[in-house]
Amino acid sequence: MNPLHARYPFFDGAREAVEASGVALPTLIADDAPAVARGRERVERALLSGTTESETPREWSTQDELLSYPIARILVSLIDAPAAVRKYAAAEAATAADHFAEDFSSTDDGLKSTNQRTVSLDDVLREFDLADDVIAEPPERGRDPDWFRVALGSYLTLSNADWGDGWRLVNREVVDGAVRVERADLTRLLREAVERRVADGLPFQVRGTAGGDAIADSLESEIGTLRDLLADRRDVRQIDTVAPDLFPPCMSHLLDRVRRDNELDAHSTFALTAFLTGIGMDTDEVVQFYRDTTLDEETIRYQTEYLRDDTGAQFAAPTCATMQAYGDCVNKDERCETIAHPMSYYEKALDEADDVREWREA
Ligand code: SF4
Repeated sequence: MNPLHARYPFFDGAREAVEASGVALPTLIADDAPAVARGRERVERALLSGTTESETPREWSTQDELLSYPIARILVSLIDAPAAVRKYAAAEAATAADHFAEDFSSTDDGLKSTNQRTVSLDDVLREFDLADDVIAEPPERGRDPDWFRVALGSYLTLSNADWGDGWRLVNREVVDGAVRVERADLTRLLREAVERRVADGLPFQVRGTAGGDAIADSLESEIGTLRDLLADRRDVRQIDTVAPDLFPPCMSHLLDRVRRDNELDAHSTFALTAFLTGIGMDTDEVVQFYRDTTLDEETIRYQTEYLRDDTGAQFAAPTCATMQAYGDCVNKDERCETIAHPMSYYEKALDEADDVREWREA
């Protein structure tokens, strides 16, 4: 199998490779093949961390990786929740954008792929029928082209006014029906193209189709786990107080760990960041809060944006049950016995505190 298809499983060629492989997904699922576990990891990571990259890439073969994509699509369809589709498609697109950046910089001139595992910018433009719509401006001597012209129609189709004023046409240079964009902006447009392709057709009907009931039955426990992760989204009371002294023990512990060890597992970082945004911190404040650590600022910014969905709703920190499952529930105290969610702990602690020391005023 072509490793490129495993890296970019939403490419047309990857779908054809799955069909040509003769592998029957129902059999794979019934046999609980490794691709099923990787498919579940794909969706779980999408919901928790905004990426579909594996935490244990060496564990999976090229075939596992490729086949995990259609399995992930089945799982997302069976979860059957708009938020799951949105988060999953966004995570596949974010992962692809990282791969694009790596691949484009690894090529000699940014335009020609040099091995079977990487794609060039030209390859990606062709994949999304954008080859005629995106033209690189002549580069300065000895440098990759940093500016491109994107046909107006494609620019308007792929860009979104919600991305900020900089994306509005009045703030762009438009020349001969094309919009000038820098390389980073072009990558943002390509990420959008990926997200739309991944979301296209999701969710699809599984139960009630030929063999669909058996597939759904076999995946029942995976679906239960993934729905629980989504159920961790809850309407939180509008809190806008940052009082670290009153944080639940689990969050204080994670904070100590990230400051002491300078690293956390992805799910722990997610839990802590979701908690911080849940108590009213904006992106700059979260970055400031992590300033003594080596956590990457761009990752923190992306994660805090990701934790709010299109409607502005907040993706809440995991429940106590999920924290326990990941080994992040530590140092429980008496109040922990009365609540089921770290946010509830914090709400209670604020209500019961005689003195609340606001971090922002320190
Ligand atoms: S019981 Fe809940 S709030 Fe208390 S430490 Fe565990 S996860 Fe945190």
